[in-house]
Amino acid sequence: MARSFPHGDSRRGSSPRIIVIGGGIAGLTAAIALWRAGCDVRVFEQAAELNEVGAGITLWSNATVVLARLGVLERLRELGHRARGGMIGTDRGKIISRLDPHGPGKDLAMPEILAIHRAELQQTLFDALPGTTVTLAARCTGFDQDDSGVTAHFADRADERGALLIGADGIHSVIRAQLWGDEAPRYAGYTCWRGITAPAADVAGHSGEIWGRGQRFGIVPIGGQRIYWYATANAKRGNSDPPGARKKRLLQRFAGWQFQVPEIIESTPDTAILHNDILDRPPRTTWTRGRVTLVGDAAHATTPNLGQGAAMAIEDSIVLARAVTERGDLGAALAAYEAARVERTTMITGLSRRLGRMFQWENPAARWLRDRLFAMTPASIHRRQLDRIARYDASRVALPGPDS
Ligand SMILES: Cc1cc2nc3c(=O)[nH]c(=O)nc-3n(C[C@H](O)[C@H](O)[C@H](O)COP(=O)(O)OP(=O)(O)OC[C@H]3O[C@@H](n4cnc5c(N)ncnc54)[C@H](O)[C@@H]3O)c2cc1C
Repeated sequence: MARSFPHGDSRRGSSPRIIVIGGGIAGLTAAIALWRAGCDVRVFEQAAELNEVGAGITLWSNATVVLARLGVLERLRELGHRARGGMIGTDRGKIISRLDPHGPGKDLAMPEILAIHRAELQQTLFDALPGTTVTLAARCTGFDQDDSGVTAHFADRADERGALLIGADGIHSVIRAQLWGDEAPRYAGYTCWRGITAPAADVAGHSGEIWGRGQRFGIVPIGGQRIYWYATANAKRGNSDPPGARKKRLLQRFAGWQFQVPEIIESTPDTAILHNDILDRPPRTTWTRGRVTLVGDAAHATTPNLGQGAAMAIEDSIVLARAVTERGDLGAALAAYEAARVERTTMITGLSRRLGRMFQWENPAARWLRDRLFAMTPASIHRRQLDRIARYDASRVALPGPDS
């Protein structure tokens, strides 16, 4: 059945509403893309205030190319830090490989890597929307849909009716659960701590990732003398540190690591260290039912090994906005959106999971071999592999389907 759909234009005020559940990176970028395409869009976020976690995030060029089209990249560049390269090293201080814009493989232009505080990213996205677009303290509990529209229900406010509902409510999405059942996300086998600090020592030169036995440590400058760091370790699911002991335990785990890892941990207040298990979801081949679809982690939660979770959410946003404005009816729009997105997000989610497993290896012989292979691979090949993911412009990819 063809359901006519609002094409974005000056009829915004009178066109049927698009409801977005969740005001994270996915929900806000989807709203910006739809708003800029001329749609009437509203975001409903459960949190009473914007509260992105105190950590950083890297945005690869496949994300920044879209953010440029959404008109927010210049502001993000002012706030964040543009990485010029990075290294992979060992806990004993050896460099395994280095991505250097001036080194071997320099003929291939370095993809942009912008690193930024998550709160600054979220605020910039929020500021790009008209003031009435985002409603805070609105926790969605589910939806009903029929031929004429979709109704979102909330715990603490009146229902909202629209033509399309987009679930951007993250890895524990209630919208996804209603569509496909309430399966728990899967644990990757390792856990992660994150923090932001301004260490006394100059550690910007150590930007990159350091590998040890079943543990990693990442160092990412995010602008304004600050660095964002993350640490991973193989562990049982749900292991947590007693209150106040997080930093002490991390210092024990990473004792003796080179590249000033202990100094970086030491310079971070215990209460500012975040801890989460690493989760993802097995990819699905469909995200849509009727007038309801998913974006971001709600659709394709991934492990963070390729730094692509938010990037894929940002890609989703522009493809969905294009599909909605370029296709004649809702069914065709959502089919085109999915057809353009499922294969790529499935590829990235699978690759990230496999790489994560390999990066977390404990066996000394396997680690030695892995490190040798990485060291011997020419920089130009590392760069080409990255390009497969980073050199991708979602605003230009063909939209599959009958109208293409
Ligand atoms: C350790 C770690 C490091 C990472 N590093 C990177 C990186 O460097 N680069 C990168 O691209 N990605 C990275 N990611 C992935 C990235 O953080 C996520 O993919 C991204 O934040 C997903 O955004 P989202 O908006 O889909 O989900 P979320 O950020 O989870 O946002 C969902 C929003 O929906 C709201 N919500 C939830 N339920 C409801 C409800 N019922 N009603 C209303 N609102 C609701 C939540 O409050 C939240 O604001 C990393 C992830 C982890 C865990």
